[in-house]
Amino acid sequence: MALPTTMRAAMLLAPREVVVETVPVPRPGPGEVLVEVTTALTCGTELKSYRQGHRLFTPPWPLGHEFVGYVAALGEGVNSVTVGERVVAANSAPCDSCDFCRIGRTNLCRELPALLLRGAFADYVLLSAPIVAHNLFRAPAGVPDQTLAFLEPFACVVLGEQEADIRPGESVVVVGGTGPIGLLFVQLFRLRGASPLIAIGRKPHRLELARRLGATSVIQANSGDLATSVLAETGGVDVVVEITGIPSLIEQAVAMAKPGGRVLLFGGSPAGATAALDLARVHYDALTVRGVFHHTPRTVRRALELLASGAIDVASLVSDRLPLEETAEAMRRFDEGELKLAIAPRGRPPAV
Ligand SMILES: [Zn+2]
Ligand SMILES: [Zn+2]
Repeated sequence: MALPTTMRAAMLLAPREVVVETVPVPRPGPGEVLVEVTTALTCGTELKSYRQGHRLFTPPWPLGHEFVGYVAALGEGVNSVTVGERVVAANSAPCDSCDFCRIGRTNLCRELPALLLRGAFADYVLLSAPIVAHNLFRAPAGVPDQTLAFLEPFACVVLGEQEADIRPGESVVVVGGTGPIGLLFVQLFRLRGASPLIAIGRKPHRLELARRLGATSVIQANSGDLATSVLAETGGVDVVVEITGIPSLIEQAVAMAKPGGRVLLFGGSPAGATAALDLARVHYDALTVRGVFHHTPRTVRRALELLASGAIDVASLVSDRLPLEETAEAMRRFDEGELKLAIAPRGRPPAV
């Protein structure tokens, strides 16, 4: 079937200003693949651009990068997939030639900003040759689109869990444990046998959800000093994952760790943000304070296996599905604190 020449695409024009425009359907060049999008998810990373713009922001900024769809057209030389196949892909891939890629630290690839996929809130999205080569997969049969659309955020969580390197029975706190990323961490740590597994968040109904998804206990974030609460309950924990990126919470996250503990800074802080560290504790308690960022092809594949296995409940992390025309409304609701929203360019499939 011939491709249409134009399509709908949601664009960010200015902070909190989203419009659905008619734009040309991209044509795949050598090594590239064009995908017709069936489901795409709102993402917390993009919410930052939505609220404040972005240092690389040049409007119109195509939104959406967590998606599933069908192969619509192939660029020259692509034979890993065929037209009509259902596929899922991550939002970037290593360049293979920079110093980080050469030593396998592909999440730090120097070409990452240029290789980031954008524009999945559209009828079609174009996948670059590196993404096609490394991070494009046939969708496993029977796994819902919405589940597979979690591939990218979950691959980041899988990298975080890998860096935390927990053993069964180790104690874990997830600070910011009631947003979509936190709730993915809670589920993955539950699978790994973390105990106790404490989720910290603000909203009572989300804390209930964290409990249902595997947290052994929950702490409400506005209930006084969080580190004091965690220390009173556990005496200190083996692993703390900090998802908010808020400096005062990062300081508290470090205070929650017991000797030998690992503190993962998963949430991005604003440029120039600083936090005070108790250096004596870091040294004498042999703490590890570690940043974790993005994903690698290995964690993408692991994330896909886990999602396909059904071990992770992602349906509970999606609050609603909206058609593409209502992307502005979806972003507005996401900004107001709803869980992820699914955008469905092909109309409004059954409610989740
Ligand atoms: Zn994302
Ligand atoms: Zn690279």
